[in-house]
Amino acid sequence: QAKAAGRGHYQLYDPLLDRANVRDLVLGEDIQIALTEEQFVLHYQPVIDVKSGIAVGFEALIRWQHPTKSWIAPNEFIDYAEKHRLIEKIDRYVLRQALQQMTIWRQQTGLSPKVSVNISGRHFASAEFISTVLALLDEFQIAPHTLGIEITERAVIDKFAIAQNNIQILQKNHVRILLDDFGTGYSSLNYLHQLTLDVIKIDRTFVKGSRGSKPNNPIINSIVALAAAMNLSVVAEGVETLDELLVLREAGCELCQGFYFSKALPPEAAIAYFLAHHTQVQVSI
Ligand code: C2E
Ligand code: MG
Ligand code: MG
Ligand code: MG
Repeated sequence: QAKAAGRGHYQLYDPLLDRANVRDLVLGEDIQIALTEEQFVLHYQPVIDVKSGIAVGFEALIRWQHPTKSWIAPNEFIDYAEKHRLIEKIDRYVLRQALQQMTIWRQQTGLSPKVSVNISGRHFASAEFISTVLALLDEFQIAPHTLGIEITERAVIDKFAIAQNNIQILQKNHVRILLDDFGTGYSSLNYLHQLTLDVIKIDRTFVKGSRGSKPNNPIINSIVALAAAMNLSVVAEGVETLDELLVLREAGCELCQGFYFSKALPPEAAIAYFLAHHTQVQVSI
């Protein structure tokens, strides 16, 4: 019956149209508006060298400052953006914001904290991505080794050959590649040795609940050992407690990020944190 009403009225009469679809339609328009009106902002979570307590840099994490819904977390819209071909625009926006912020920090402090940016797998494994990154590095005159690109295992598996090639081109240009959420989803040791990565990020599900009383967390130990054998750095993400930190330190994990140290901070607070932690400070552990 609904269809008989004609295409233009289909949605009005379709009893099966669910709320999720309606939300999706609005979300698509809202993301476009958010891009042009610059409603997306980046917050920066410090990454800490656990031996010295020094902050080495940040992971940039997107937040949506929606005019009527206040803050929206990335999990609420990144999946949608990936499905609906909006992620490329978001990624370019994020890269530009991050590199611009890096120039501001350099002007303000004379320091160049490292910043890593999350890039959607689909976008990473495209020819256009390389030229986008290199053009932005040039535009903002950023030392390439201070930029890191975080990709997930999923990304690498879907388009292995292109991803592998893009990793190598970026590395030739001194941009670092971090494998995010390591150990979740499509973990395969088979492709890991075919890739030239710089950093493995241990997913926080492995970090969660590491107890000081049980210092040998076999999974963390194994990932750290694997990384060392492959000459890769390791960052543990989602470190929330001292117990977790101690387990990671015991395992030989040198870099950590998580609420135990700091949440992702707006730019001014982030650089203040960096300044307070960039010379060797007394660590209480
Ligand atoms: P991710 O890249 O694995 O980022 C880490 C997430 O863990 C962040 O959530 C961060 O706020 C959160 N986190 C950090 N420390 C802790 C901790 O100690 N405990 C707990 N429970 N959580 C912690 P967030 O910001 O909500 O981001 C979620 C995911 O969204 C990210 O996971 C990343 O996959 C994606 N994402 C974030 N920003 C961007 C972006 O700019 N572009 C793209 N394409 N994806 C992004
Ligand atoms: Mg990440
Ligand atoms: Mg992660
Ligand atoms: Mg994640």
